[in-house]
Amino acid sequence: MRIQILGCSGGIGAGSRTSAMLVDNDVLIDAGTGIGDLELEDIDSIRHVFLTHAHLDHVAGLPMLADRVFDENFKEPLNVYAREETLRALQDHLFNGVIWPDFSKLPSAHNPMLRYRVCSPGDTVTIGHRDFYAVDVMHTVPTLGYTVQNSGGAFAVSGDTKSNETLWPVLNACDDLRVLVIEVSFPDEMAQLAADSGHYCPSTLTKDLERLHHSPEIWLTGMKPGEEETILEQVTKAAPQKNIKMLSRGTVLTV
Ligand SMILES: [Zn+2]
Repeated sequence: MRIQILGCSGGIGAGSRTSAMLVDNDVLIDAGTGIGDLELEDIDSIRHVFLTHAHLDHVAGLPMLADRVFDENFKEPLNVYAREETLRALQDHLFNGVIWPDFSKLPSAHNPMLRYRVCSPGDTVTIGHRDFYAVDVMHTVPTLGYTVQNSGGAFAVSGDTKSNETLWPVLNACDDLRVLVIEVSFPDEMAQLAADSGHYCPSTLTKDLERLHHSPEIWLTGMKPGEEETILEQVTKAAPQKNIKMLSRGTVLTV
């Protein structure tokens, strides 16, 4: 699998794009502002979108993506996989006919170009040679992390989360976990804000990393713009024995 990081920032600003990663050429995990840099032909090959949750930094690009599919390319629908609560939020607050057209009923209700697919914790969705497994994590709204497995190994994406009891057993059950993309949004000086907003900070993340039995590449994501270096320094200082790096836009991971 080829995993291209289109956006991994916790906010906007020159050069920063929010959460989106392209798996091979046809699947997105999250649809933040990072998808806006894709070439048109690359946008047109996307057929599946797995969302971690409904927060805007993870879905901001989805309305434009849907519009592109509708305008240029409607041969097959765009499948959007997410928790029921996330799909309902999209329907009620984005694709509601006010903010944006209801593409789940266009061009017709029986043949829409946007198809909502409920994906609940514990579900596996197989697309081609890849198994996407959804895992419950702990954020301020219902959120999923994903593990993605193929014959070459597995990678995992945490979604937005604070310390939780659900992700780590799933990661430990992944025998060939090669890559872990995990969020850490705020530095330790903002630990209370991190806790209140359902995010890791370096001290809570490194404590949970001690529970991981495997030694994957660990890539940090979701950092607030301007705080990246501080966060990386705090994480690597607290877990010097781990293979930890900072994700950046354009990084390509291979599993
Ligand atoms: Zn969030």
